[in-house]
Amino acid sequence: MTYLAVPISAKNAAQAAEQVRRAAAGGAEMLELRMDYLEGLTADLAKQVLRQTQALAGEAVPLIVTCRDAREGGAIDYPESLRIEILAMALGEGAGFIDVEFVNFQRLAFRQRIESALAQAKGRLILSTHDFAGPFDDIKRRHHDIVQACPAAVPKLVCTANHINDCFVAFDLLHEVDGDCIVLCMGQAGLISRVLAKELGGLVTFASLDEASGTAPGQVTLDAFKGLYHHDSMDRETELFGVIADPVGHSLSPAIHNACLADKGINGVYLPLLVQGGREGLFGFLDNVLSRPWLGFRGFSVTIPHKHSALDYVRQKGGFIEPLAAQIGAANTLVIERQATSDERLGAYNTDYAGALDAIADGMGISREGFRCMPVAVVGAGGVARAIVAGLTDAGAKVTIYNRTVERAEQLAADFGCVCAGLDAFSHLDARLLVNCTSIGMHPKVDTTPVPPELLKSGMAVFDTVYNPAETLLLKHAKAAGARTIDGIAMFVNQALAQFHLFTTQSADPALMRRVVLDSLR
Ligand code: NAP
Repeated sequence: MTYLAVPISAKNAAQAAEQVRRAAAGGAEMLELRMDYLEGLTADLAKQVLRQTQALAGEAVPLIVTCRDAREGGAIDYPESLRIEILAMALGEGAGFIDVEFVNFQRLAFRQRIESALAQAKGRLILSTHDFAGPFDDIKRRHHDIVQACPAAVPKLVCTANHINDCFVAFDLLHEVDGDCIVLCMGQAGLISRVLAKELGGLVTFASLDEASGTAPGQVTLDAFKGLYHHDSMDRETELFGVIADPVGHSLSPAIHNACLADKGINGVYLPLLVQGGREGLFGFLDNVLSRPWLGFRGFSVTIPHKHSALDYVRQKGGFIEPLAAQIGAANTLVIERQATSDERLGAYNTDYAGALDAIADGMGISREGFRCMPVAVVGAGGVARAIVAGLTDAGAKVTIYNRTVERAEQLAADFGCVCAGLDAFSHLDARLLVNCTSIGMHPKVDTTPVPPELLKSGMAVFDTVYNPAETLLLKHAKAAGARTIDGIAMFVNQALAQFHLFTTQSADPALMRRVVLDSLR
C-alpha cells in the first residue's frame, strides 16, 4: 500500500480544519499534521488540532504527526521539549505515525523519551533524514544506519534532486528494500520520484493541496496526482511514458497523452521529464532508464533541445532509426521495444513531418499523392521547417524556403534539393500552399504575422505551425483573403496521435486530443 498523504500546514486551528476538509474531499489517503506550522504552539493547541482532524477526516484516514525541528526544515523553531511532548501526546491520542528526525533520535535522551511514548501506544515511528542541498552521498548507507538504529521504524529519506538523474539511486533503494520505506526527491527534477513512489512500493508519497500550499519544493498537487497521473490505478505493472525536454513545464503532452491512456483503459502514465545538461544529461538519463527495465519505461516524446542528441543516442546503441528521421537529423519519439529475448531495443522516429503532412492533406482535402509537383512556400528554416521540408520533398512537392537568415535557408535547401530566398523575396510568392514554420504570431506577440496580407489569395492553402493561439493573425488574414486555413493544433494532434500509436499500438481519439489541447491553452 502506498498512501497519498497531504501535509496540513496551517497557522491556526480554523485554517487546519479548512485544509483537512479540502484534503478529505480531494481523496487524500493520509494526512500529515505539521504542528511546526501552527503559530503560538502549545500541547493543548496541538491536541485540539489533532482531535478536530480525527473528527473531520474519520478513522479510515491515518495521521502522521510531525513537529519538525527547524534545523531539519521545520517552519517555526519550537523547543525540543515541546516537540517531544506533542509527539507523545499524538501517540496517546491514537495517531498512526509520528515523524522524528533521525539526527535527533541518535541522541540517547531524545531516543529514550520517544521509545517510552511508543511503548505505550500503537502508533509507528517514521525516522526522517533530509538533504536540502542535493542527493545523499550514500543513500543506501543512510538507509542501513536508520534500520540498524531502529528496525521497527519506517525510514524516510528525502533529498533534493539537482538533476533528474539524481532520482535513480532513490528508485534503486525502493526497488531493493523489503520493509516499509519512504524515499522522495525534492525539486522540479524530483517530480517523478513523487509520482512513481506507488509503482515502486514506497509507503507514502506527499501531495500538496494546491500550488501555493506545498511543504516541499516540487510537490505535485492532489488533483494532479489523482487526475493527471492516475495515482488510483497505478501499480507495479504500470507502463511509463514521458516527454523529455528542458524546460518542460509548459508542455501540453502530459495532459493529452494521459487523457488518451485513461480513455483507452491502458495502465500507463505519461510524465514531464525535465532533462537538463544537454547531450550529456540526456545520454545519462537514457542510460539510467535502459539499465532499469523494472521501471517500466516504454517510450518518450522528445523536444527542445534534445531532438538531435536523441537520434545520436539511438545510433550509438545500434537501435532502429526511421529513414526520414535520419535524413531530418532529429527524433521526436523514442520507443523502447520489448523483444522476445530479455533485451530491449530502442527505436527513433520523427512524427513531426507526418503529423504536418496529414494535417495539410486533411485541410486541403487531398491524399499524400496530391503533394506531387505542388508549389509550396515554407517560411522559416529551423527544426520544424526541416521536418516539414523533408516530408514535403519526400512527397514530391516543389518547395521554396524563405528565411530571415539566408545561410540557414540555403543549407536546408541544399539538404533537401529545393530552392530558397530571403524574406525580402516575398513579393514573388507564387505558391498553392504556404507554411509558416517561424514563431512569428505566437503568444504573447499575437499581433505579428510573417507574411504581408496582400500576398494571400483565394485558391491558396495556408498552414501555420504556431498553435498558441489556434487562430493566428496569419490565419485570420488568410481566411479574409478566401484561402483555406490549417492551424498548428492539427499538426500537434497528428504528431501526438502517431506517437501514441508507436507507444501503445492503439489509436487515440483525435477529438479528445484536440479538446485537451484547447482546454490546456485556455
Ligand atoms: P527554431 O528552430 O528556433 O526556428 C525558428 C525559425 O523562426 C527560424 O527560421 C527563425 O529564423 C525564425 N524566426 C524566429 N523569429 C523570427 C523573426 N522575428 N523574424 C523572422 N524570422 C524569425 O524553432 P522551431 O523548433 O523550428 O519552431 C518554430 C515554431 O514551430 C515554434 O515557434 C512553434 O510555434 C511551432 N511548432 C509547432 C509544432 C506543432 O506541432 N504545431 C511543434 C513544434 C513547434 P532565423 O533562422 O533567421 O533565426
